[in-house]
Amino acid sequence: MEKGNTRNRYPLIELNLEKLRNNISQIVSRCNDAGVSITGVVKGFTGIPEGVKVFAEAGCDYIASSRLEQIQGAIDYGIKANYMLIRVPMLSEIEDVIRLTDISLNSEVEVLKALNKEALKQGKTHKVILMVDLGDLREGFWEKKELIDAAIMVENKLDSLHLAGIGTNLGCYGAIKATPEKMKSLIECAEMIERAIGRKLEIISGGATTSLPMILNGTMPSRINNLRVGEGIILARDLRDLYGLDMSYMFQDIFTLKAEIIEVKNKPSYPVGEFAFDAFRNTGVYEDLGIRKKAILGIGKVDIAYPDMLCPRDEGVRILGASSDHMIMDIEEAVRDFKVGDIIEFDLCYATIVFATNSPNVRILCK
Ligand SMILES: *Cc1c(COP(=O)(O)O)cnc(C)c1O
Repeated sequence: MEKGNTRNRYPLIELNLEKLRNNISQIVSRCNDAGVSITGVVKGFTGIPEGVKVFAEAGCDYIASSRLEQIQGAIDYGIKANYMLIRVPMLSEIEDVIRLTDISLNSEVEVLKALNKEALKQGKTHKVILMVDLGDLREGFWEKKELIDAAIMVENKLDSLHLAGIGTNLGCYGAIKATPEKMKSLIECAEMIERAIGRKLEIISGGATTSLPMILNGTMPSRINNLRVGEGIILARDLRDLYGLDMSYMFQDIFTLKAEIIEVKNKPSYPVGEFAFDAFRNTGVYEDLGIRKKAILGIGKVDIAYPDMLCPRDEGVRILGASSDHMIMDIEEAVRDFKVGDIIEFDLCYATIVFATNSPNVRILCK
């Protein structure tokens, strides 16, 4: 995908499709061995269609995003897959949910009724997963009775919907850990529903990347049979850094950010004059290291939001800060002799991938 038409335009995000394919296969095979299907979540890289295609080819049972635009983009690109909407639908997007997706995560009776009505209108059967909030306090039913009643209603009254199963989400808002105990609570909810409707549910979706450690260390309770994974595939950095797991079979450099140097000068490290506020109304923090060799790059907070979360691949360079469209680096101790026009490469984290791939100013190149 090329946004804009200038060929050598920077900033640039490179996506290595073969490394991505490796990471998907590694996670899919480990999960499938544990009886768990994978929903490949593509919102983390704004659903770049070339990347979505690899997810569909590499064994994901579902392709998911929180944004219908990304699912539409993948369909327009010609990718055949089972598409899942993983943000509970807005009432204003019901028509597109039915048109574009096979299955959605849900937590509101009013929305379920609207989905049913629209599915009938479009002559489709739409699958739904009811979300249970187990304490992370984002989406999902909190009251068990409300959950069971909604399940019975979908099963018996909403004929154009199919109750495929239930799911939960942890470690997103409330920073609550996904544990075997939380999974057992989810399975208990599933079994309450199964008793109420008199049949087994097909899907018990135990969460996102934060539930992967239980697969990798063999503690996932056996009835959990689906996970919805984004970060743990495209980066696997949190599993390594925050959970201490050996992720050496995964690439952490699928994405490369490249930005161009627009100024190189020796300047003071400490601002000169009377202090007021920076471009984002903050009072800055500056360390006085005397005169330093510094570079300015043609990229800014508009593109990556968190400059301090980029990791330069060059040795001896340091990111000092950024405004909307300029990023300032200390290159005094750099191994390379940087000049205007040189390109600097960075590793990204989840947040910087999300922002950079969303920025219309950042060109995307799939290799
Ligand atoms: C974003 C999201 C996921 C995937 O999260 P990762 O941390 O990227 O694995 C799964 N489920 C829901 C409901 C989400 O919103």
